[in-house]
Amino acid sequence: MIGRNELCPCGSGKKYKKCCLQKNQLMEFTRNKTLYAKGLYNNMENKIYEYSKASSFYNDREECIKKFYISKESNSIIDKLYNTYFMYDFRNDKGNTITNMFIDDNKLTLNKSQRSILSSIIKSNVSVFKIEDIATTKSVIRDYFNDNKIIVEDIDAFRNLKIGESIIGRPVNVQGMNILVDEVTKVSDKNLNVILENVKQLYKTKNKKIKSIKEFVNNNSYIIYKFEQQILLNDESNIINSLDTTVKNTTKAKVNNNSDINIYDALKNNIEEKYLQKGLDLWKEFIKSNKSIKGSENGWAAAIEYYIKKDAGEVITQAQVSEKYEISPRTLGKRYKELKVS
Ligand SMILES: [Zn+2]
Repeated sequence: MIGRNELCPCGSGKKYKKCCLQKNQLMEFTRNKTLYAKGLYNNMENKIYEYSKASSFYNDREECIKKFYISKESNSIIDKLYNTYFMYDFRNDKGNTITNMFIDDNKLTLNKSQRSILSSIIKSNVSVFKIEDIATTKSVIRDYFNDNKIIVEDIDAFRNLKIGESIIGRPVNVQGMNILVDEVTKVSDKNLNVILENVKQLYKTKNKKIKSIKEFVNNNSYIIYKFEQQILLNDESNIINSLDTTVKNTTKAKVNNNSDINIYDALKNNIEEKYLQKGLDLWKEFIKSNKSIKGSENGWAAAIEYYIKKDAGEVITQAQVSEKYEISPRTLGKRYKELKVS
């Protein structure tokens, strides 16, 4: 404890009571409030987690693992995100979430405060935010998909972040204050553009019935979680073997930075062994002379397979190859052209 009349530790030369005392008290107060809210949240989260471990959810869990993870390589942060996704967002074949079933099964024993946290959890969603302000006791984040501003009193969550930076996070309102559950992941400007572009593209091509991009993101939160995993795993600078083959259908939703684009798995899963090395060499040459490569892994891998096989004198059509990689022949045609001219 610093005495009120001692010199302020911030080095201003003023007495503590005339300088940082009030600010520190306010921060302490906010921090305690946040801790209390987080305690309430963790309590509820644990209850749902215990509930989700029932053997009757075993198959759903398996399904969810397949849908969620981008890699066999994982870590505790990603596993935590997975649990959040499984409990709150994942819908079983009847369209129910674990949290909805939990509420149904515990209707009679939940008190008012618990019911209110549960309703906040149901409303919560993971998203990409811009940090607009970081102040002593509250910060402001803005959702990129609907421009909504959210005031977050969870001051410790922003400790290593700056105004203007972007994050992936999941705010939950507990007793009137927003806390960020799970880890907050920083998103570089480069990755941000890729994510926003990709989500926009997915929204346009996949879901014509959904009214807004925000609703689309909420209904398909695994897309955001997959981007988050990419960022978390790329940090370990080992992306070559990290993409899980079980998510082949969703590889379109990858962060495709030039340096990050990883066609290895897509190619390895499809092309014959004898052509694999040739294909990888071709790709290596190609990325050397092309600085900004856009598009999905599958598109490029398909073009490479087509190129190599034509080169080897095989009789093969673009339609055959594009079907194998689950892309349109048009995409293959485009990529093949780009590959050929280089
Ligand atoms: Zn001071």
